[in-house]
Amino acid sequence: MTEIEYKIYIDDVIRRVESARLRVSDHHIVKIVAISKYSKSDEIEKLYNIGQRAYGENKVQDLKVKAIELDELPIEWHFVGNLQKNKINNLLDINPALFHALDSMELAIELQKKLEAKDMTFNALLQINSAKEDSKHGVMPEIAKDIYEQIQKKCPNINLKGVMSIGANSDDKEIIRNSFITTHNIYKEIESATICSMGMSGDFEMAIECGSNMVRLGSVMFNK
Ligand SMILES: *Cc1c(COP(=O)(O)O)cnc(C)c1O
Repeated sequence: MTEIEYKIYIDDVIRRVESARLRVSDHHIVKIVAISKYSKSDEIEKLYNIGQRAYGENKVQDLKVKAIELDELPIEWHFVGNLQKNKINNLLDINPALFHALDSMELAIELQKKLEAKDMTFNALLQINSAKEDSKHGVMPEIAKDIYEQIQKKCPNINLKGVMSIGANSDDKEIIRNSFITTHNIYKEIESATICSMGMSGDFEMAIECGSNMVRLGSVMFNK
């Protein structure tokens, strides 16, 4: 695609986000994080030139390589993947704007230790396994609010900003919708939460209708 064609293509994605958010309310603002894990730095640069500023990766090593390659652009980097304990220091060195997948108390405690040692703070979302799938990370919905409050109490260097979830892996739209509603209900219960990160290329309109205010769009943003 030429840049003009790509612009027209992206305008259409933005229009889809826009109509979904207007179905919620005029005041419901949704942020797009472009997930660049299948894309190379030159593709990110093309999208950057069209106006997209926030990008997310799901592997610490990939995030590091691309952050260095695109050093000159003021990109807002997100980390959306699951974090192994032995990669914590590497991630903190890159200091992303937001970590979407804090998925256990145990990881929070480890993160807190490292953050304290480096005298830094870190923005994160609690990942919720709303559809209770074995294949997914995240805390169970029943205990999510409690874990959230425990992290707030025990981990002063972690700034919890809200919740994140991946829609249920199902062909049944109602099952997917219910998983988003479950996550959004938890989000509403936590007064201090400001970010509800849910919705990917295949289900972002439904996620927005269920209250998401941050969508993580990979393939649809890069036309893959
Ligand atoms: C890959 C990924 C996405 C984007 O997936 P698409 O279906 O390509 O939009 C969103 N969130 C997470 C956590 C991912 O790993």
